[in-house]
Amino acid sequence: MPTEAAVPAISVRDVWVDFPGRAGGEPTRVLQDVSFEISRGEFVCVVGPSGCGKSTLLNVIGGFLRPTRGEVRVQGEPVRGPDPRRIFVFQESAVFPWLTVAENVAFGLAGLSREARARTVAHYVELVGLVGFERSHPHEISGGMRQRVELARALAANPDVLYMDEPFGALDYLTRLKLRADLTRIWQRERKTIVFVTHDIEEAVQLSDRVFVLTPRPATVRRVVQVDLARPRALGAPGYVAARSAIFAGIGVSEATGEETPPALASGESTRPAPETDVVVIGGGPAGSILASYLGQAGIDHVVLDRAVHPRRHVGESLVCSTTRVFDEIGFLDKLEGGGFVRKHGAVFTLDDGRREVALPFSAMPDLGITQDHTYHVDRARFDELLLAHAAARGSRIRQAAEVERVELGDGSVPSVHVADTLEPLRARIVADASGRAALLGRQLHTRRNDPRLNQIAVHGWFRGVDRSRAETADWIHIHVLAAPRAWAWQIPIGADVTSVGVVCEGQPGLGRGDSGERFFARMIASHGLLAARMAKAESLHALELEGSQSYFGERVAGRGWIALGDAAQFVDPVFSSGVSVAAESARLAARAIAEALADPGRAGECFASYDATVRRGGEVWRELILLFYRMPPLFLGLLEDPSARPALQSLLQGRVFGAHDATALAELQARARELEREAAGR
Ligand SMILES: Cc1cc2nc3c(=O)[nH]c(=O)nc-3n(C[C@H](O)[C@H](O)[C@H](O)COP(=O)(O)OP(=O)(O)OC[C@H]3O[C@@H](n4cnc5c(N)ncnc54)[C@H](O)[C@@H]3O)c2cc1C
Repeated sequence: MPTEAAVPAISVRDVWVDFPGRAGGEPTRVLQDVSFEISRGEFVCVVGPSGCGKSTLLNVIGGFLRPTRGEVRVQGEPVRGPDPRRIFVFQESAVFPWLTVAENVAFGLAGLSREARARTVAHYVELVGLVGFERSHPHEISGGMRQRVELARALAANPDVLYMDEPFGALDYLTRLKLRADLTRIWQRERKTIVFVTHDIEEAVQLSDRVFVLTPRPATVRRVVQVDLARPRALGAPGYVAARSAIFAGIGVSEATGEETPPALASGESTRPAPETDVVVIGGGPAGSILASYLGQAGIDHVVLDRAVHPRRHVGESLVCSTTRVFDEIGFLDKLEGGGFVRKHGAVFTLDDGRREVALPFSAMPDLGITQDHTYHVDRARFDELLLAHAAARGSRIRQAAEVERVELGDGSVPSVHVADTLEPLRARIVADASGRAALLGRQLHTRRNDPRLNQIAVHGWFRGVDRSRAETADWIHIHVLAAPRAWAWQIPIGADVTSVGVVCEGQPGLGRGDSGERFFARMIASHGLLAARMAKAESLHALELEGSQSYFGERVAGRGWIALGDAAQFVDPVFSSGVSVAAESARLAARAIAEALADPGRAGECFASYDATVRRGGEVWRELILLFYRMPPLFLGLLEDPSARPALQSLLQGRVFGAHDATALAELQARARELEREAAGR
């Protein structure tokens, strides 16, 4: 079933409109073969020659006019007539002359309590800049202010979509400019889907994400001009002028003389101006979405491109505690807590066929501001989709099914991001690579290095009927150490009776040499008595998946105009469930480096160098910790039972690895492990 985020806000398919001819004459065709989609929260302007059918199109989308042919859907529902969830704002002010400003704004809020109504009115009166005029009547205020009242009334009703039909057309130039700026600010805060008809090309460029240019009647969409410019948009900026020229060319009118230009000239020009934004984020997994949420919070204009369409399946379901701080900072923790995900209170390691168990209960991390003693196990399809939707709510412009083919970093110039099936690259001040294990920039720049010490594979799936053992640890992750080299299995509770089980092993023993994934999986499960017993009644919910799990690191993870985060920067063996935590922490650090670099471009090199050092050091701590575990699992787990080593180890395993002192803590643990090794050898 398509999810909310995947359903377009508006979908217009093959729409035609004929008006009946007078006295039985020929009908007049006004719209012909119009098709497009508008995403949620998008701001689209419709322009075209005078009388071409712009308002007719708006009336069809708004449900005031039935198309002769074709279909319009809003939020996935077919449009059968006007709907109070979708509101029109017209040029001629429709405020009620006998009501005050406040009463006009309150109109339509009858369903709310007195207090809620007063709160809503105060909020929108303030938003449109009419504080102090609440008791004025429309005839006592200017035309521009009446349009503000109209806008406040429309927004107060909390519509899904706002249809605006030349709303500023009757106002003088300066008032129009001011209202455009205010509307931009309001849209950035409220993120309503807006369809705005205008004859004013400047207005279209200043306001919208995309401009649909219609042909003369019968109108169809001749050109879609993408306006990827940071807001607020200065008249005359380079990208601005290019967008305006593309629209003029689309209409077929000379900018200089206002005369019609031959269609060949218009169609010969690029359909997209060189776009511009502060940051392009490649990838909408946890790293990309978390970075985007931080950027949105900081008011930094950015676009997220993901080749996938969410929800999409993904491995990596068990989190560690350090992520809590990040989720809290981006305002996502409540959604996570309320999302019905299984709470994870700790980890259990089993050894020697299950005869020995070592438990690691999680604790709060007060020095990181984390007061809860649990984190979560997540179905990644749902979790990643929620995170991406959260970024959208924080102001991210998100394009799914947008595969980045390559990035041109240029020589000191603005980087360009080339997206499959688009004509013009997307230009940004900074490109953030969060493309996961695709590691787009790492491969392109040849900075990605495999770690030959950690080359694992995994076979995994979801099961029903897995015995989760004792109630106290039923919702913990269970890591079963297997007898083969660097081999272990995970057992992760995903829901009431859905458990993710995966086996990980060095290289590919048997696989590809007549051993299928299923046989390999069964063999590994059978090799551990306790795990085999827990899986005795398990029923597979889908075909098993085979996954390479080669660890790698970036020799550099940031440079001039680019930064890599999450798996795009480095990937470490998953035995300690570190992946999403590394994605979250690196996104947090990247957001800070980007904000500082944009605020003071002279310091960009320094900010990115510091990011590079910190992120690579954190990855190195995880890698060394994992190698310590693999060297001798019983000895490593012995450290967890050693009161002098346990607190430091617990902190590292909960994901605290990016501070300078964390590397020192690791070095002390390594020294203690060597001591224990010597003692064991001497016995
Ligand atoms: C076997 C195994 C088990 C694991 N278990 C755990 C675990 O229990 N806990 C844990 O925390 N981690 C685990 N991980 C690691 C975890 O999967 C990753 O670390 C985590 O998903 C990283 O997030 P990310 O956002 O960096 O990348 P991803 O989640 O991979 O997201 C990258 C996004 O980029 C998009 N993309 C890729 N290329 C392009 C392109 N060219 N153009 C546009 N978009 C693109 C993709 O569509 C994707 O949505 C495991 C990994 C493996 C292999």
